[in-house]
Amino acid sequence: MGILRPVKVGRITQEFDGDFHLERPGFIRGGLPAARAKPIEFPGSTRRAHLHKAIDYGVPEGTPVLAVADGVIVAQGAFSNGETWLMLRVKRGPKWQVIAFYTHLKEDSFKFATKAAVKRGDVVALSGNSGGITTGAHLHFELRRGRREKDPRNSFLKWTRFDPQPFIDGTKLTTLV
Ligand SMILES: [Zn+2]
Repeated sequence: MGILRPVKVGRITQEFDGDFHLERPGFIRGGLPAARAKPIEFPGSTRRAHLHKAIDYGVPEGTPVLAVADGVIVAQGAFSNGETWLMLRVKRGPKWQVIAFYTHLKEDSFKFATKAAVKRGDVVALSGNSGGITTGAHLHFELRRGRREKDPRNSFLKWTRFDPQPFIDGTKLTTLV
């Protein structure tokens, strides 16, 4: 069994683009859903690709956001710009853990305390448009894998991100740990 779609409504406004890796020179568009997003240029860059290792769902603010699998809310909060996010650990192996990361959530919409165990399908927060860097209300959703001992809040670049779609279509998370 794979994971749930993180929202029941809304079309995909930006798909996962895994053809470009962080360590290569190029442009990062920061996961923004539309063309007016300003790319970040790395020194020596020649590659005009953007990086979006996530799926964006265009959904109205206040749409229920679901736990995509049974798991534990390992962290939730907001960046200094107000961008409100949640990290749900959905799988843990001997060496690896898999985190579902949701962002641009509605401010103060968390439904559980940090460290709470939740069930697949539980509403964990509401979608929003937080952070001031979006071009419209949407949910940004990532699947990340990292070493089990890593704190997901502190090691963003050390996490590998996977296209969530095959897992929504039924690929088991056990293939990642
Ligand atoms: Zn995004």
